[in-house]
Amino acid sequence: MREYDLAVVGAGPAGEVAALRAAKLGMKVVLIDKRVDLGGTCLNVGCIPTKALIASAHTYEKIKAHLADGMFECQNLSFSWAKIQARKDAIVAQHRRGLKFLMQKNKVTVQQGFASLADANTLQIDATDKTASTSKIKFKHLLLATGSYISPLPKSIDLQVADQDLLYTSDTILAIKSVPKSIAIIGGGIIGMEFACLFNAFGADTSVYEVAPSILASEDEDSIAALSKICAKKGITLHCSTQVKAINQTADKKITLNSERGKHTYDTLLLATGRSPATQKLQLEKIGVQLAKTGHVPVDAAYNVKGHSHIYAIGDVIATSALAHTASAEAMYVVEKIAGLEPSQLDYSANPNAIYTMPEIASIGATEQELRKNGVDYKKIQYPFLPSAKAKIEGYSDGHVKILYGTKYREILGAHIVNAKATELISELVLAKVLESTLDELAHAIHPHPTLSETLMEAAHAGIAGAIHL
Ligand code: FAD
Repeated sequence: MREYDLAVVGAGPAGEVAALRAAKLGMKVVLIDKRVDLGGTCLNVGCIPTKALIASAHTYEKIKAHLADGMFECQNLSFSWAKIQARKDAIVAQHRRGLKFLMQKNKVTVQQGFASLADANTLQIDATDKTASTSKIKFKHLLLATGSYISPLPKSIDLQVADQDLLYTSDTILAIKSVPKSIAIIGGGIIGMEFACLFNAFGADTSVYEVAPSILASEDEDSIAALSKICAKKGITLHCSTQVKAINQTADKKITLNSERGKHTYDTLLLATGRSPATQKLQLEKIGVQLAKTGHVPVDAAYNVKGHSHIYAIGDVIATSALAHTASAEAMYVVEKIAGLEPSQLDYSANPNAIYTMPEIASIGATEQELRKNGVDYKKIQYPFLPSAKAKIEGYSDGHVKILYGTKYREILGAHIVNAKATELISELVLAKVLESTLDELAHAIHPHPTLSETLMEAAHAGIAGAIHL
């Protein structure tokens, strides 16, 4: 039986980063995934394909804006959805090849199959193809990075749809053949709202059903309000505080949704009601591990699975935020720890949320609702992108920067950006928070001109001695 220093189960942003880091640090590594392709959810059906489609939506919106202002002219502007899809597929394929090459280059053994625990030092790997072959490997250290899968539809919804191909999930809608005339999305979380903005930009009549009082419930109230207003302006219908009761199919192959808002019919339905940790078939019970109520694998502060100092779990399968960069950061921490290095403990208060709606939302740290609820002594400054010359040049004037800071030391407690480039801009505030910077340091750090990042500096100045350009 082959033996490895490190066995990694799951080749997503957690597992692939862990495998490469470990191999570069001299460990003998095996990386196992049930998928044929490396890259996990993120590369195959998550971050990368969605952002490739959203990038095309941005380009289309920009072209339309410039045609509207008369700067450019074009008769009958149109788009090819097939070519937009092909570009997305090519980007994904290129990155799959890149990962395969990196594994070979760094001598990581890649094995395709379903992994489960035979005992606390042995993995069983079952083939996913028809051969039904089984093999076993021994490990000194095991890293579980099995991610998440699409949760089943809540039982409270009565689903009466015979043609399953009328029901899309975030996995299947990526290959949709054309932009639907109308689409209903159940779930106003990150995935639901990103797809809502995408299909709206390409002309679909888009409605979102969300049971919570607002979309993107964990974001700051002012970010939610700003995006909700922009969605309304763009014609995206948001049905919040709305429980979908039944989903039916009509004779002409359309979908009808029943909710307290009435009965509405759509061409297409996207179910975006959440994801669950993927622990099926791992057989953790064989090593005495009991899952948390949420289904997550329980770990301690060093990501050790409870009771096993040589077994770790990271990424979407544990209860930290389900984001690719969180998974990769945890991977590097664990592998460096195994290698005897002394990595810094991850600071989740500076872990950015990045939401690729149109405009984007990005944030770190506490929301204003949380500070209020916890009775924290704080102040806030909210500064718009409107006065920024660069924002006007680029056509990115929508949105704001909001910084929440301590009353006594002006330390940053939370920061929230709504802007077309929010997910790029947030990195400055991530570093500011990690370095425990104050509002004063952010204000007096010289920023390049003209840039969108000046708005962060202007916001900080506004919080100290008043706004300059407002
Ligand atoms: P995964 O990427 O899910 O990888 C886990 C892998 O484990 C899978 O390949 C699976 O096949 C394999 N596996 C599971 N069980 C077994 C087993 N028993 N044996 C063998 N293999 C197994 N995050 C962002 O940060 N930014 C974004 O823009 C973003 N956009 C997203 C858009 C969508 C539509 C979705 C669905 C997610 C998005 N995410 C985004 C979330 C991101 O994809 C996840 O947080 C990230 O992929 C988690 O990484 P992971 O390595 O923990 O798990």
